[in-house]
Amino acid sequence: MKSKYSLTTKIFIALVLGIITGLLVYPVKDNPYVSKYVIGFVFNLLGNGFIRAIRMVVVPLVFFSLIVGAAGIEDVAKLGRIGIKTLIFYLSTTAVALILSLIGGNIINPGKGVSLGTVAVSNVTVGEAKPFVDILLNMIPVNPVEALANGNMLQIIVFAILVGVCLSILGEKTLRIKKIIEEGNALSLKLVEVVMIIAPYGVYGLISKTFATFGYVAIFPLFKYFIGVVIVLFIHCLITYQGILAIVGRYNPLKFLKRFAPTMMVGFSTASSSAALPSSLKCMQENFGISKSISSFTIPLGNTINMDGTAVMQGIATIFIAQIYGIDLSMGNYITVILTATLASIGTAGVPGAGVIMLGMVLTEVGLPMEGIGLVMGIDRFVDMFRTMINVTGDAVCTVVIAKSEGEKLNEA
Ligand code: ASP
Repeated sequence: MKSKYSLTTKIFIALVLGIITGLLVYPVKDNPYVSKYVIGFVFNLLGNGFIRAIRMVVVPLVFFSLIVGAAGIEDVAKLGRIGIKTLIFYLSTTAVALILSLIGGNIINPGKGVSLGTVAVSNVTVGEAKPFVDILLNMIPVNPVEALANGNMLQIIVFAILVGVCLSILGEKTLRIKKIIEEGNALSLKLVEVVMIIAPYGVYGLISKTFATFGYVAIFPLFKYFIGVVIVLFIHCLITYQGILAIVGRYNPLKFLKRFAPTMMVGFSTASSSAALPSSLKCMQENFGISKSISSFTIPLGNTINMDGTAVMQGIATIFIAQIYGIDLSMGNYITVILTATLASIGTAGVPGAGVIMLGMVLTEVGLPMEGIGLVMGIDRFVDMFRTMINVTGDAVCTVVIAKSEGEKLNEA
């Protein structure tokens, strides 16, 4: 029987119901039965069960679809051209996101009037910044099977592109392998479709758990920070992205939002780009009609390195922390923020809470106290939901623009 509601509507309803349930459960969250059975069992099983199921499909989907995509590109020059355009797009939009966040942060002044004592401080362990050369070297897998087993996305991308290119050079000689990989790709897409049937239940579990655990009171002392990040994220999404879509991509922004809404909601509720990847790839290929050669490259790559939402959070959080500690940032500091937060967002993993750990890299470069991270940690899950939604949207905007620039015919009606 076909349901009368679309997946988008169902996920949206689940989101709203999740917020209501979570807020109702929050006042009794410490009751042992509620914490053990309602939050710890029901919400946990629904939410994390969905995330695990969707992440299960990420590696085979990216692997097969990228090989099919690369094998379908007739000349290597085209691959190079798409690669360069994609990198330029990702880096420049991240820089714009950071500039917007610094301007927004200076207008909103998130840390002015907030005293250290009013904010709950969490304990944090901060990751170390890796030298840039190591980031580059780490993209080359010494053992492709290990890369697949560990889900190391950049390594999988490099290996899959090479396999695809070689398959296309070998042509007739490897028709059977090519056929198997094409079938593997069809199978992975079917898996995504099947797993997405439980998306509304998963979203309900995740959102209920978040609101039941954190309530909303924690947001009050940090309200200006929270609202500042959300406003700049929306500006970036509605002005930068939709402007690029309309002017450069000549694609109707409203139609874009409608076609991409399911993935935006998965990103929002899971706070994980990586969990939203399968849905994103499927949206691009089926809702927008974009070829595998472009989407299978731009989406997994963007999912790993393009995190504009995370960059926005890092920009505003830096200003917030500086203001709370009463430290004035110079123009030089702002430039450092733009450079390091671009790198930090590239290095951020697509999982919940990763961006705030990478904030440590930015704070160190600017000379701000690392404990500042503890100040924003308490409400990070809420900020994370919004920024992850923008992270995945940026990849999709890039994919549409690149597909159009390569002369592809997209579903526009
Ligand atoms: N949760 C974000 C993502 O998966 C990363 C972050 O924490 O900023 O895209």
